[in-house]
Amino acid sequence: MTAPAPLRPLGRAGAAPRNWAGNVAYRCARMERPTSVAGLQRLVAGNARVRAVGTRHSFNDLPDTPGILVSVAGLPPVAEVDSAAATVQVAAGMRYAELARHIDREGYALPNLGSLPHISVGGACATATHGSGVRNGCLATAVSGLEMVTAEGDLVTVDRTSGHFAGMPAGLGALGVVTRLTLDLVPSFEMRQRVYEGLPLEALDEHFAELVAGAYSVCLFTDWRAPRFTQVWVNERLDEPAATVAGRAWFTAVPASGPRHPVSGFPTESCTEQLGVPGRWFERLPHFRPDFEPSSAGDELHSEYTVPAGEAVKALHALDRVRAGIHPVLQICEVRTVAADELWMSPFYQEDSVSIHFTWIPDAEAVLPVVGLVEERLEPFRAKPHWGKVFTTPPALLRSRYPRLPDFAGLVREYDPGGKFGNPFLDRYLKQ
Ligand SMILES: Cc1cc2nc3c(=O)[nH]c(=O)nc-3n(C[C@H](O)[C@H](O)[C@H](O)COP(=O)(O)OP(=O)(O)OC[C@H]3O[C@@H](n4cnc5c(N)ncnc54)[C@H](O)[C@@H]3O)c2cc1C
Repeated sequence: MTAPAPLRPLGRAGAAPRNWAGNVAYRCARMERPTSVAGLQRLVAGNARVRAVGTRHSFNDLPDTPGILVSVAGLPPVAEVDSAAATVQVAAGMRYAELARHIDREGYALPNLGSLPHISVGGACATATHGSGVRNGCLATAVSGLEMVTAEGDLVTVDRTSGHFAGMPAGLGALGVVTRLTLDLVPSFEMRQRVYEGLPLEALDEHFAELVAGAYSVCLFTDWRAPRFTQVWVNERLDEPAATVAGRAWFTAVPASGPRHPVSGFPTESCTEQLGVPGRWFERLPHFRPDFEPSSAGDELHSEYTVPAGEAVKALHALDRVRAGIHPVLQICEVRTVAADELWMSPFYQEDSVSIHFTWIPDAEAVLPVVGLVEERLEPFRAKPHWGKVFTTPPALLRSRYPRLPDFAGLVREYDPGGKFGNPFLDRYLKQ
């Protein structure tokens, strides 16, 4: 395997390290990038406060620590496929783009990917990052085992046979520094992606379930300038029956005449190939190509809320009623589906869900009141924010939406009794 691509610069020399979007300056004492697991173990054992950081694509202070922020990107870039078990053991710091190419060469695929393949596997799983598809769980549902350095510097391995494993894959960095993950694989597959334009919101009233189940992965985009979806991205597998939605009388959206960026009018060269051209799974499932970072890299803020699938259409109408407040600070809003899982800290715990994502303009002062407006409108639908994005949900409300949070807090106490991996974010949202 080749070494992971370098991270984007951390900012001016001597300046505080920042996240990818630049909206969070980490308060850590310093950053470290050990090149061996033994070095990482010494670092964790020898410091009072430590936290893991991945590719820094989170939009809030979740990764931060008053102590040492440790990147696992310098550890050996392992990706070992076990064909008998149909799994891959992957270094936590590896990005999906690199992992996907490697496993595809060996005849395997992951069931799903997020919109951006440049995100680290460890960081994506820790926050229950997801793609779309009614049958597809979040990326952490592929995790069948973890290797991690715990608070005393011990290297421990856990798998699905371990007690409380359901609390670990989406572990928010609270249990230790994950060095490797074992992921379930499926046989590699080909897909084709088509974009349709102009679907009225009212088409979802009767047909939402049919639309989102009409292909392996369906994503809807709106700029909330009108009660309609500007684009519908339909991704079908070549080894499954053809997508059904486009043939329906109610599906009045029309095929795009050329490639599209989710934000209408943005340059399309960073986007995965469309127009029905067949391609590998990892070159179709994400919106952005593995060999390009999006043209708007960093010039955006994100928020995202998960609602039960059965409430999604009502939730979208609730947002439509305040779209005049939303669209001035919005680049694009995306609606995706995520299958229920059993992971304690996953927003999709035991609930087939719909996620409503917002790419905002990079102006926190203008955006935050609108985040509050969106949260107020989605509150009746038991909305849960994405762990890695901008949100202002009151901690008590957020806690009430996670029935297994007390179990997770117990697991954190068991693995990290001294609070080495704790931080203000976890204090806010995990402590009762
Ligand atoms: C352009 C863009 C597109 C995105 N698209 C999607 C999407 O399609 N779907 C979606 O759900 N989300 C999406 N996100 C959000 C993103 O997936 C999450 O914020 C994710 O956590 C980022 O991973 P990271 O490696 O950058 O993690 P970081 O931001 O570096 O860290 C996030 C958390 O993971 C923990 N962590 C990281 N590495 C480890 C480790 N080795 N061991 C233990 N804990 C670890 C950190 O402690 C922290 O708590 C997107 C973000 C951006 C910027």
